[in-house]
This record gives sequence, C-alpha cells and structure tokens, in this order.
Amino acid sequence: MTTGRATLRRDNLSRVLRHLRDHGTCSRADVVEATGLHRATVSSLMTELMSLGLVREEGTSTAGAIGRPRRDVALDGSHVGALGLEINVDYVAAHGCDLGGRVLFSARSGFDAAGAGFSGCLSELVRMARLASAEMGPLAGVVVAVPGLVSEGAVTFAPNLGWRDVRLADLLRAELGVTVGVGNDANLAALAEYTSGVAAGTSDMVYLTGEAGGGIIVDGRLLRGADGFSGETGHLPVDPGGARCGCGRTGCWETKVGLAALDPAGATAMGPEARVNQIASAAAAGDTRTLDALAEVGRWLGLGGSILVNLFNPRAIVVGGYFAQLASRLIPPAQAELERRAVAGGRCTIVASELGFEAASRGAAGMVVDQILDDPLILIPAG
Ligand SMILES: [Zn+2]
Repeated sequence: MTTGRATLRRDNLSRVLRHLRDHGTCSRADVVEATGLHRATVSSLMTELMSLGLVREEGTSTAGAIGRPRRDVALDGSHVGALGLEINVDYVAAHGCDLGGRVLFSARSGFDAAGAGFSGCLSELVRMARLASAEMGPLAGVVVAVPGLVSEGAVTFAPNLGWRDVRLADLLRAELGVTVGVGNDANLAALAEYTSGVAAGTSDMVYLTGEAGGGIIVDGRLLRGADGFSGETGHLPVDPGGARCGCGRTGCWETKVGLAALDPAGATAMGPEARVNQIASAAAAGDTRTLDALAEVGRWLGLGGSILVNLFNPRAIVVGGYFAQLASRLIPPAQAELERRAVAGGRCTIVASELGFEAASRGAAGMVVDQILDDPLILIPAG
C-alpha cells in the first residue's frame, strides 16, 4: 500500500469513528450518507474498526423492511484507556476515560514538586499512572499536563517546578511502555473547558489557571503560536517595578494575582487548599486586610484580563485554580476593572471554572482520545 493510500485509509477510519462518537448509534447507511464514502468502503472500514474493538454492532435497524435486517453500529472503545496526568507546584492529578469519554479514574494527591526535584516528580507520575492502570486496565496512551513551555514532548522551561530542558515524554515512555505526550497545563485545561466546561462551545474564550497561565481558544481552536508557546499570560509584564517572578523577570502578572500575592505569609507548611479555605473564612468573617487583599488581586486580574480582551476579543474568560474557589470575592472587582480598561470589555464575562483541579488532566485525557480518533491504527502494537 502506498503512503498516500495509507493516509487516505487512516483519514477515512478517523471520519467514521468521529461520526459515531458525535452521533451515537446509527446504521451503516447513515455513515455512508454522512461521510460521502462509498458503501463498500464503509463496510470495509467497519470490519477493520471492529477488529480493533472500536466499533460494535448493536440492535437491529428497522428502517427499510425489505431484505435482511441490518445491524446498527456504535462506537465501542470501552477497553481503550486514555490517561491524562497533571503535575503542578503542589499536586499531581489524574483523569482516565475511555474512547467515549466515560470516566474510569480520577485522583489527586498533594505533592511538593519543586522540593522533590525532577527525578522525584518522574517517580510520582509513574506511581500515579500505575495506580490508574490498576483500576482502568491497560493504557492506550498518556498525556501529561505541565505548567511550562512544552515542545515536542520536552519541557523547555517550567519555572515553578524548577525544570529546564527535560525530555519528559521519552523518560515516561521508557517507564510505562505506552505512547506519552506532554502539553501545557493551561492549554489542556482550555480544551477541557471548551468541550465540557462552564463556557463549553464558546468559540472565542480564554482560560486562566490559578497562576494566570493562559489557554487561548480562537474561533474554536487552541492558539498555539510558532513554537507552541502562546498563552504565557502569567508572565505578561504588568508592573515593571514590581516583585521578582519565578521566571527571573520582574512584575509578571502572576506575581500580582497568584496565591502568593494574596497571602505572602501563608506559603509555609500549609497546603494551598488549606490556605484558600483560611482566606475564605477570614473574608466571610469580614477581616478588612483579607477583603482589601482580595479586592486588590481582583483588580489586577481585571487589568491583565483587559490586555487579553484587547488582544483576542474573547466572549468569556474562564478562571480556574484558586480563582474559582474565591470567585465571589475576586470576579466582581476583576469584571469592573476589565470593563473600565478594555476597549471592548463590556461583552466579555469572567466566569469561574466548574472543572476545578480536574481541568488540565481532563484536557490531557481528551488529547489522548483525540489522537486515537485521528489515527486509530496507533492502537496496533508496533512489531
Ligand atoms: Zn514571570
């Protein structure tokens, strides 16, 4: 088979699978009509997809009473385990699903990533993947979400983890024996928000992590940039005379809105969730210093948001991480500041994510599913 024909075959398998994913159970005739492919081609594609265990026959189609009854077809893939992992400053999270998006595994555990060093982080990711696999069964693929610059499976720079030029995908593949990809946490979270979050389907939106890292969706697609580095919004230089950032520069947006900006004294032994709970309690009790600090962070959130609005004209800015937990205190001042500063701010709404800490790992699992839907033949073991 020539390369051109192999590519065509792969694309056709993908078209059929995506149709079944988006439309549920249907007849072969439906697939023929929807894809515009020849009947015999669809028949042969179905046979191949069934042999891969990705399509199953279901029920009996009653349409057309003449001739043999035809069996409907549906996406199967319940045995295909897609795992998304996220490593962040203070936790590791996992989200596993099958090809139809059914959740098979979900976990998060506190972890001091910077303190553990890179090899400690690698061990923790391997531990989490094995835990997931023990519950989900064999993994078809893994994607890891990382808070940093990612290029072709390597992490170029992740200042908050202290990583520089690490070949994460290769190292994890060697440990786990499956295909491994790596993506930026905010970009993957943005994809999860776009497919299943509070602003799902909003074709122009920005997602912000709790450290103001951004994932930018323009016209329904993730904006990647020349090197895949777009969305480093946490390092927008919003205050050139400001504090030093983990990236080595000064006055980055994350130094104004990250949890450390809100609660500089709290960074010691207490985990981030306990700190956020403490801040919420102090605010509820009317503590003036806390309320002032929240209003100040809210204003900086709106100021940075106005830059994004002027650049990308999003309909929504979805805020995740701790911003979502303190949304009722942060969003009103942020929205007011955004409308005051942005030229077209009135039509962009800041909303709190409802995916919580799951956003990035969910997006990562979604990317594994997408890779399989794009090229189902990657499920055939090499050699
Ligand atoms: Zn920075």
